[in-house]
Amino acid sequence: MARLALFVWFSLALEAQVTNSLLNNEIKGINKTEQMPKNTNASIIHALNDLNEISDFKTTAAPVLSNNKTMTETQTLQERDKKPEDKAHQSERAGTRLRELACPPLGLESLRVRDSQLSASPSQRTGLGPQRGRLNIQSGLDDGDEYDGAWCASVKDRNQWLQVDALRPTLFTGVILQGRNSIWSWDWVESYKVQISNDSETWTTCMNGTVEAVFKGNNDLETPVLGRLPVPMVGQFLRINPQSWFINGSVCLRAEVLGCPLPDPDHLEPVTTDHLDFRHHNYNEMRKLMKEVHDQCPDITRIYTIGKSDAGLKLYVMEISDNPGKHELGEPEFRYVAGMHGNEVLGRELVLNLMQYICREYKKNNERIVRLVKLTRIHLLPSMNPDGYERAYEKGSELSGWAEGRYSDGIDMNHNFPDLNNIMWDEKEMAVDKSKVSNHYIPLPEYYTFENATIAPETRAVISWMQVIPFVLSANLHGGELVVTYPYDCTRNWVPQADTPPPDEGFFRWLAMVYASSNRVMANPDRRLCHYEDFQTQHNNIINGADWHTLPGSMNDFSYLHTNCFEVTVELSCDKFPHASELPVEWENNKESLLLYMEQVHRGIKGLVRDKETKAGISDAIIKVKDLDHDVRTAADGDFWRLLNPGEYAVTAWAEGYFPSTRKCQVGPEPRPSLCGFVLTKTPQQRALDARTKGKKSAKDLQVRLRDEQVRKLRVSTKRLNQRRMRQQKKSQPTRAQRKR
Ligand SMILES: [Zn+2]
Repeated sequence: MARLALFVWFSLALEAQVTNSLLNNEIKGINKTEQMPKNTNASIIHALNDLNEISDFKTTAAPVLSNNKTMTETQTLQERDKKPEDKAHQSERAGTRLRELACPPLGLESLRVRDSQLSASPSQRTGLGPQRGRLNIQSGLDDGDEYDGAWCASVKDRNQWLQVDALRPTLFTGVILQGRNSIWSWDWVESYKVQISNDSETWTTCMNGTVEAVFKGNNDLETPVLGRLPVPMVGQFLRINPQSWFINGSVCLRAEVLGCPLPDPDHLEPVTTDHLDFRHHNYNEMRKLMKEVHDQCPDITRIYTIGKSDAGLKLYVMEISDNPGKHELGEPEFRYVAGMHGNEVLGRELVLNLMQYICREYKKNNERIVRLVKLTRIHLLPSMNPDGYERAYEKGSELSGWAEGRYSDGIDMNHNFPDLNNIMWDEKEMAVDKSKVSNHYIPLPEYYTFENATIAPETRAVISWMQVIPFVLSANLHGGELVVTYPYDCTRNWVPQADTPPPDEGFFRWLAMVYASSNRVMANPDRRLCHYEDFQTQHNNIINGADWHTLPGSMNDFSYLHTNCFEVTVELSCDKFPHASELPVEWENNKESLLLYMEQVHRGIKGLVRDKETKAGISDAIIKVKDLDHDVRTAADGDFWRLLNPGEYAVTAWAEGYFPSTRKCQVGPEPRPSLCGFVLTKTPQQRALDARTKGKKSAKDLQVRLRDEQVRKLRVSTKRLNQRRMRQQKKSQPTRAQRKR
């Protein structure tokens, strides 16, 4: 009964909404509760509330316009009435429309819908079978293998179909269609009908009034197009039935289906018991959430910014530590960076969830979290590319496609960092004594510090940040695959793909394995591959970055070669922009991995390097581990961290003006660092020099001086660039909005 009533209400509400939209030629941000008929009985309201949990109803996001002015929905509508429609308004309308989708995707893209739930009329071949008819699925470089970029019917007529079995009664509200992913063939469906069935035998065609509804499909390969059912329909099966297609192509499509599973007591148990803010947060909402976390936990949090994006949005960082705002002697620094590709949004939400979770659990005295916060200084950058994110967000989780929002002003930040690998390798090749070539702390190349170097402001900001804080461990959160990659990302000799292990390969593989083996999706042996590459059975979900594909100038390699910090990349999900309804389960999939990975910062050895006489810490002292061709350096107060797998190591500490000192250090299997400190004695030459330059600080070694100098130059050129950009922005926007700001 409740189901029927619910369906009737849905039909009425949505029908009213569609009519309204047609009348106004506008789809408004309607508050669903206001629309509810006054005499609705309590059980329906209850059922609706249950549905709200799984759908996007509650999202009443205020879109950020291109001029960075936030408006409420009402303001937006008023403005629209006054002004002729421009591009910004169009994309904003698309965003509003997507947030309006009453029901979430069934999960063809996210793989929640399994291959066995998809069937079709005869396909061209296995690689173009129904299991490939998923929104945003990517084909390999060569067509013709098992993993092609669409479902393609073998016959070109109007009797072909792709069928989805929702496994239970479902209220279907729409279909999203996309062409075939291929660089060789052009295939897409231009129009289609939709049929619904309860038993997959008797089918009802979706109607638009008294005629069968014909939905507009695609006119290119990649842009997803939403077809909303004029009247939502209940059934278990849905068929997409192509009516016309690109004239020179085949009947090929990728799709997502929107539907609300009807209330079923067995399926209503929550997927997580953590009550976090599970939805997509645009720039303003992200800022608000971070402020809320800070207000709730002022003693252990601090918000700061590391710079601005190309469009002037701030790059916010949440710091979590028992003494926020300062580096504590011996306490390692950790960072998560998310959203380098603006359209890969899961990392951003997970990092926002993580800060809420840590704050709450700390207050509840959760022993594990309290220990983590007391022993670690954590930095969380949820959005490295906020401009790209806003573009993807405006289109929404299903309509942003595969690449919208990836770049910042045309720059892919994933290879925008200086390529230090080749500098180091070239030097080693030329050097007579290869052991003399520095294997760490490599300075930026000169050209990189120029004002006209093609470096995104976001990349510049992150480089400066990495230089200021003595980070020990980091992960760079991406999306679109399920795999963890570790350095090097760049191959030697410009080979497109080759295993290129760094000296610390052993520890990097451990790090990657920690994340991959505790991630609930990656660790599931029955998972299917995301697109066409089998990282699971062939690589155990971890791979050397360069062995996947070469990537000169990656953040991971830069972090390892320019700073002390070890960094891996986590590809978090097949779907780059999962629907909001997937966020609770994604949190559960990743929660343990996110925590466990942070805890790895406490492995290996740590200690203090001090002057024998003054007992003061020595900064920039080099820590060398025998047979590991990668050194690290002490931080400003002389403390250091060297990540290592269990074992016994001969460790040498050395600093400019001191005699080197070597000792044995033992690393155990337990996740806590072994203490391994050093006391260094000054050389007689240095003593003499000190006597002459009394009171002055002792000289830094050449490598550090050069590195500091290049970063200083980079900052100067960045400052000049920012000033110029601000002047240009002021000139081009002498509007009312500008003055108001
Ligand atoms: Zn990415």
